[in-house]
Amino acid sequence: MKKTYVLVSVLVTAIVLFSYADRVSAASSHQYVPIHLIAGDKYVAPTKAQAVLVDGTTYVPLRYISEALGAKVRYQANPQGVIVSVPHASTPVTVTISNNSEASEAFIRNGRTYIPVRHVVEHLGYRVDYRASAPVVRVFDHSTISTDDMLVQHSVELNQPLPLPAWVPKKSKPKKLAYLTFDDGPGPHEAQLLKVLKEHNVKATFFLVGDAMSEQPAMVKTLHKAGHSIGLHSMTHDKDTLYASPKSTVEEMQATQKVVYGLTGTKPVICRVPYGSKPYMKQPYRDAMVKAGFKMWDWNIDSRDWALPDQPEQILENISTDLKDVPEGEPPVILLHERKVTVELLPKIIKLLEEKGYTLAPYDEKHHVSINFWNDKRL
Ligand SMILES: [Zn+2]
Repeated sequence: MKKTYVLVSVLVTAIVLFSYADRVSAASSHQYVPIHLIAGDKYVAPTKAQAVLVDGTTYVPLRYISEALGAKVRYQANPQGVIVSVPHASTPVTVTISNNSEASEAFIRNGRTYIPVRHVVEHLGYRVDYRASAPVVRVFDHSTISTDDMLVQHSVELNQPLPLPAWVPKKSKPKKLAYLTFDDGPGPHEAQLLKVLKEHNVKATFFLVGDAMSEQPAMVKTLHKAGHSIGLHSMTHDKDTLYASPKSTVEEMQATQKVVYGLTGTKPVICRVPYGSKPYMKQPYRDAMVKAGFKMWDWNIDSRDWALPDQPEQILENISTDLKDVPEGEPPVILLHERKVTVELLPKIIKLLEEKGYTLAPYDEKHHVSINFWNDKRL
């Protein structure tokens, strides 16, 4: 008895040490965990029949279970389902089958029907033991050996790494996002800029100036309809007017927001303050922005395109260099302007980022990440 206890302890410890998280797949909306299967007193190799937990429910291939238990299986067409019966049970079990969801009673994958084992097998008078520690499910009729003793007996098999069945959707890697941001528009190159973005199937963020929007209202509507994101870049772009007081800063952003609302029916809260938030946006300014419900983005990649109208290669080099220093956990936010050189260079900028695995996305308020020179997480 004592020997058994020690063996079980060793086994359980070994199994727990074997990283559980690695084997959990959160692909699609379901959680899949592979589990070992013991039928009667026999360990079933996963190559023969693989059991799997789907959202906490144990599923086992029906054919294997029917063979092991001597059950009869009949498929019905409408509603699509399967009827399982055994000689000594008075009523058969019917489970419906879904082809598109694993959340229903039974499902077919790679030509195999998987059934919720506890629901079906217990109904037919068999016993089901599940041990989360292994994890293992045991299906049996009468046995002189307890499931705990079975775990000891099959400790070698149960310690083998268990793969998920091949049909389980692979965990999709989260997208690496990067943001192209264009300041000071709408400008004279707007149409060409939108054309290039469209050709490359890329979305960007435009920090627009109120006065410029009034000059090209149709362009604002066009870029909004094209799926790009609009941010607020003040009304005047004049540092003396804008930064006269916290109140004036907030009021200019509110006025800019109003212009965008009038043209697109949306009320962006993301702002980029002209010339960047340092040194102007000291604490009282930031407090006022927070109170007004605004968010504020600076950038972590400075292309310096505005200063390099004749040096496209240098602009590209600046982006490439800054990209290596983007802080951990921040998506690259690239400062660009609506300049001729920038529009001409844009295909190369896009190529550079996409080759590094980035998806170029428009700013999305719902997934806001704080990026400002003050490291003020409220913004
Ligand atoms: Zn600007």
